[in-house]
Amino acid sequence: MGSGQKSKALEFLKKGYDAFTDAMFPPGYACLGCGKELKSEFHERALCDECAEELPFKTGKLCAVCGAAIYAGRLCRRCSQALPEFDKAAAPFFYDGLAKKFVLDLKARGRLYIADYMAEYMYRYFSASELTADIVTAVPSAAKTLRIRGFDHTELIAKAFSERAHIAYKALLNRIKHKKDQTKLGFSARYASVSGSFEPIRDEIAEGLNILLIDDVLTTGATASECARVMKKAGAASVNVITFAR
Ligand SMILES: [Zn+2]
Ligand SMILES: [Zn+2]
Repeated sequence: MGSGQKSKALEFLKKGYDAFTDAMFPPGYACLGCGKELKSEFHERALCDECAEELPFKTGKLCAVCGAAIYAGRLCRRCSQALPEFDKAAAPFFYDGLAKKFVLDLKARGRLYIADYMAEYMYRYFSASELTADIVTAVPSAAKTLRIRGFDHTELIAKAFSERAHIAYKALLNRIKHKKDQTKLGFSARYASVSGSFEPIRDEIAEGLNILLIDDVLTTGATASECARVMKKAGAASVNVITFAR
C-alpha cells in the first residue's frame, strides 16, 4: 500500500470514528472542547465552563483597520504601509487553542453543526461592535476544495450568521481560478497570488450596499482585501469583514 493510499485509509477510519463520536455526543449536548456532557444552560455556547474560560478572546492593542495584534500606535505595520481594500476587519478570537479547534473540526472533520456555533460567537461580537451591513456574503471557496470537502464551510457560517443578524445573505463573488496553496507562500506572494481570483456574480447587484464579508479565519487579509476590491469596483459602498478568528 502506497503512503497516499495508507493515509487515505487512515483518513477513512478517522472519519468513521468521528461519525461514531458525533453520534455519541449529538451537537449541543457535549462540550466541543473536552467532550464532557453539557448542562442544558450551556448548549448554546457549546462549551463547558472550564473550556469557555480557555477561549482565546482577542484582547490587548489591535490594529484599527485589520484587527492584528500590535504593540503601539493605531495601525499594524502592514496597514500603515498600504491600507487593505476592506474598511475594517474584526474577529472575536485569536486563531489559537479552542478557536482553532472549532475551525478544524468544521473544515477538516466535517462537523457541519459547528458553523452554527461559530456564527453565534461572530454575531454576538458583531452586534456589540459599531459595524452595520445591508448584505452578508461569504468568501467563495475554490471549486477544487469544494469537491474534496463536499461542503462550503464559509457559506454555512455566513448563512447561519445572516439568520441570526436578520441581514439577507447573498452570494456576490465567484472564485475564478485555483491558485497555489496560500499557506505555503510568504506575505507579498500571497497578495500577488489572490489578485484576479474573484469576479462579481453577474446580475448580483452590490451597487450602493454596505457589505459584510464572512470568512472563517483572516490570516494576511489578502483574500478579504481582494474580495473587497472586486465588490467595491462593482459599486459596493463599504466592505467590512468578520471572521471567527484572526
Ligand atoms: Zn469542556
Ligand atoms: Zn492592520
